[in-house]
Amino acid sequence: MRVISKPGEMQSVALALRNEGKKIAVVPTMGYLHEGHTSLIKKGRELADIVVTTLFVNPTQFGPNEDYEKYPRDFARDFELAEDAGTDFLFNPANEEMYSNGYKSIINISGITDRFEGESRPGHFDGVATIVAKLFNITKPHYAIFGQKDYQQTLVIKQLVNDLFFDISVVISPTIRESDGLAKSSRNVYLSDEERKRAVIIYTALSDGIHEVQKGESRRKILNAVLHNRIRTIPEIRIDYASSANADTLDEPDVFLPGERVIFMIIIF
Ligand code: AMP
Repeated sequence: MRVISKPGEMQSVALALRNEGKKIAVVPTMGYLHEGHTSLIKKGRELADIVVTTLFVNPTQFGPNEDYEKYPRDFARDFELAEDAGTDFLFNPANEEMYSNGYKSIINISGITDRFEGESRPGHFDGVATIVAKLFNITKPHYAIFGQKDYQQTLVIKQLVNDLFFDISVVISPTIRESDGLAKSSRNVYLSDEERKRAVIIYTALSDGIHEVQKGESRRKILNAVLHNRIRTIPEIRIDYASSANADTLDEPDVFLPGERVIFMIIIF
């Protein structure tokens, strides 16, 4: 595995590989890798000849009071995990390289970013769309692999690729979970033992929602109430949102139509 930190160098390498006819997959990450990330790298390995894993804690997707400074970082560990999972190139640029002095361009995607995480974290998806577009232009991939865990993000990326004619296949990979159902996440290290135990309620509530849909429930308010009721069994938890929506548009109809794909999304504190 080769580590590259200069965008220009990464671009030349990617271009040379493309000219040799190689297919490239990119796996964008903020590091502090876990099996969720390595599953995406392995997916990239299956699809392409070359896997580029990117490691960059992107400042523009964090709000002013968010955890940018304390976001966990461990390059040595990331190096090992990325290499073991089958990465060919680890791209880890410095901030100044990705946002050179006086940068002025930010990508704003409207509509699907108005709700849910976009509403709770103003500007977050602008930061995501901007960094992903930069990474696409630097790594020149044929495939870009993202995790379903960040569901709204996957819709934002698909919109970006569509709107800006990126010639890239977006591949969404399933959520990897701990044995008790909690999704693996770099941020899980923030949780105390007590909070870690409580967090499983996300998985329990999501499973309740899926069960209700399978039983034939189609009224959105009832489905949302199922999630809320389950989460409220733990009084210490504050719900940011626990909602169902159309999985393609994030629209919130009163009643989901037969065959309509439904997504459940939960953020709690
Ligand atoms: P992050 O480093 O948290 O920005 O995540 C980088 C990529 O890994 C994103 O596409 C995430 O959706 C994906 N990812 C994070 N956690 C998981 C997980 N538990 N299972 C699958 N993919 C994940």
